[in-house]
Amino acid sequence: MSLEDLYSEIILDYAKNPQFKGSLENAYENHAKNLSCGDEINLFLKIEDDIIKDAKFEGHGCIISQASTSMLCEALKGLNTEKGKELINEVIKMSQGKSFNEHIIGDLDIFKDISTYPMRIKCFTLAWHTALETIEDFEEG
Ligand code: ZN
Repeated sequence: MSLEDLYSEIILDYAKNPQFKGSLENAYENHAKNLSCGDEINLFLKIEDDIIKDAKFEGHGCIISQASTSMLCEALKGLNTEKGKELINEVIKMSQGKSFNEHIIGDLDIFKDISTYPMRIKCFTLAWHTALETIEDFEEG
């Protein structure tokens, strides 16, 4: 798969889609940077009664990081924190080229070849590691 193929229509659409851009009040917030590329995100998760009610982000960076963060917000919204962590762990496994649960991953499998682009893996996983930290912050109260 070429890098051009990785930048599919879907990924480009997500990178441009402003639906998940912005901040949230009374939400758990985490900031993260990928120094190797200059990607920067501020992730907001609104968690109530153990459910991720809403997810948004601010920030900038390459297409992969922006599309990945948009898809993360869409995928986590509505899940309980346990399911959210399960999804995140599967996505991280996929990015490492390990076998993953296709049923849990769903449409996110458009990124399944990311593991063959070592320079781009951090762009892709930035949001997912940040979301995992955010859910753990919530669990620790
Ligand atoms: Zn990047």
